[in-house]
Amino acid sequence: MNASTFTTRFRAAMMPTVPSPLAMLSHGKGARVWDVEGTEYLDFLGGIAVNALGHAHPVFTRAVSAQAERLAHISNYFASEPELALAERLTRLTGGDAVYFTNSGTEAIEAAVKLARRTGRPRILSLTGSFHGRTMGALSLTGKPVLQDPFRPLLPGVEQIAPTIAALEKALADDVAALVVEPIQGEAGVVDLPDGYLAAARELTSRHGALLILDEIQTGIGRTGDWFVYQAEGVLPPGAAPDAVALAKGLGGGFPIGALVGFGAAAQLLQPGQHGSTYGGNPLATAVAGAVLAEIEDAGLVANAALRGAELRAAIAGMASPLVAELSGRGLLIGVVLTRPVAKEIVAAAQERGLIVNAAAESRVRLAPPLIIGDAEVAEFTEKFAAALAAVAASTPTGATA
Ligand code: PLP
Repeated sequence: MNASTFTTRFRAAMMPTVPSPLAMLSHGKGARVWDVEGTEYLDFLGGIAVNALGHAHPVFTRAVSAQAERLAHISNYFASEPELALAERLTRLTGGDAVYFTNSGTEAIEAAVKLARRTGRPRILSLTGSFHGRTMGALSLTGKPVLQDPFRPLLPGVEQIAPTIAALEKALADDVAALVVEPIQGEAGVVDLPDGYLAAARELTSRHGALLILDEIQTGIGRTGDWFVYQAEGVLPPGAAPDAVALAKGLGGGFPIGALVGFGAAAQLLQPGQHGSTYGGNPLATAVAGAVLAEIEDAGLVANAALRGAELRAAIAGMASPLVAELSGRGLLIGVVLTRPVAKEIVAAAQERGLIVNAAAESRVRLAPPLIIGDAEVAEFTEKFAAALAAVAASTPTGATA
């Protein structure tokens, strides 16, 4: 099926919420996908930081079919072994105390908003430039007016502040229920927080009795070279933890699931009947997520994310492209910060060469490959990305700056 055919079908049958798809994909294996015409791509977007084990990993496919044959859905009137085992694994990995399961990231944030409301305090703070999801509560936290404006009025009491420690000091007071923060702003194009931000946020929220809620939906589950960014050395003060962490994306490795993990008293704020979901915590999703997490642990993929991330950074630096200003992010969540607003051109040039990368912002290319990549994928990426950068550098004027 050629591009004009699937684009026509897409436009006719789908609500126009996204621009035209870049390709129509048919199948994948490992870090590779193929389109319906048989063209092969190295997938360095991984379903936007979702496909932790790549595509069609045997652990993933076996977990889906084995659990589907046994018990897929039961409602939250009942418990199941996969659900409890995943909750126990997540409390161990996060250091948290109790888990609420959802079907997506935005729903994990909705649960966080309700947790914050349960403090009885009126204000919730989030950061400008942030992305927390598209349902109305999460959208109210998402610090992008272009996404928020068509849907006003939003949730009352939610405010965006600049991502600086000075803005945090000014905004925090005893009427703040929670501060919700992404440790790295993924959708903004892999934008790092200022040094010491999360440590200061922990100190200031504690001082004012407010919750610190981390949105690790994109950064979590090993992607950054630690299981979660807040566990990396020096990010929080020694021994400190957040009050809640929102998860999704890599948690299911491609199966839709999200979670809110509560720590200490925050883990008990939602009382029976105060929140729920028909599908949340269903045996199928939780069995697959459990298998994905077990494989990440058993195969040492968190350490692999750190190693391969360092290799990719060194490779991109070695390209010495005039288009690359600097690199942001951690591990296998990498932002290539450009000297010119040509991210879309680079994405197109890469795709022509059989490489999928993402234009998260006009001047930022995002890389979020599967955690399973090895020497072959790093080498292939290096060759194709260097060629794409060179082609764009040769074809765009040098005068404009980002
Ligand atoms: N929070 C962050 C940091 C995200 O990156 C995303 C999705 O990109 C979300 C929340 C929303 O997750 P979902 O698309 O699963 O609703």
